[in-house]
Amino acid sequence: MSRSVRDYVRSIHDFPHEGIIFRDVTTLFADARGFRMAVDQILHAYAGMRIDKVVGLEARGFILGGAVAHQLSTGFVPIRKKGKLPGTVISEAYTLEYGEAIMEIHDDALRPGEKVLIVDDLLATGGTAAASIKLCRRLGAEVIGCAFVIDLPDLGGRAVLEGLDMPVHALCAFE
Ligand code: 5GP
Repeated sequence: MSRSVRDYVRSIHDFPHEGIIFRDVTTLFADARGFRMAVDQILHAYAGMRIDKVVGLEARGFILGGAVAHQLSTGFVPIRKKGKLPGTVISEAYTLEYGEAIMEIHDDALRPGEKVLIVDDLLATGGTAAASIKLCRRLGAEVIGCAFVIDLPDLGGRAVLEGLDMPVHALCAFE
């Protein structure tokens, strides 16, 4: 039987902490067929929709989002963790299990009215993607969707994003 995108994801126990199963997409990206399948499935989900820019979330969203942008012949815009982008930025803070994280985008990266697709490897609690949607919207862009390779449904991220009126597309799930 042929392998699905999910079959290329490696599960690593006790990373980064004891009791956590890390879903490792480096094995997906390293495989020519797996990587193409993931990119093609994202393209298929948004076929026919206008997309002006692809926004990728640090860091694995850069790999996937860059490939999607190339295929769509759109520009690519990174959203990064605090302090990494060199130009003038706007920031959004969100809460983590312990403490707070901050995501940033260049303040001139998107124009009002541009339609953007947000891409990342994995949706967990939805905090990273929710902050990213808010950043895009603050620049006046319209986020048409958020695409992920993996959804972890037990962590509730999909409901958080749908609460922001954001359709979510995930290629596979791990319970
Ligand atoms: P959230 O903000 O939805 O709780 O977490 C999602 C972010 O954390 C994503 O940017 C994702 O890359 C990262 N992340 C959290 N857990 C995992 C995991 O098990 N595997 C991978 N590849 N990324 C994870």
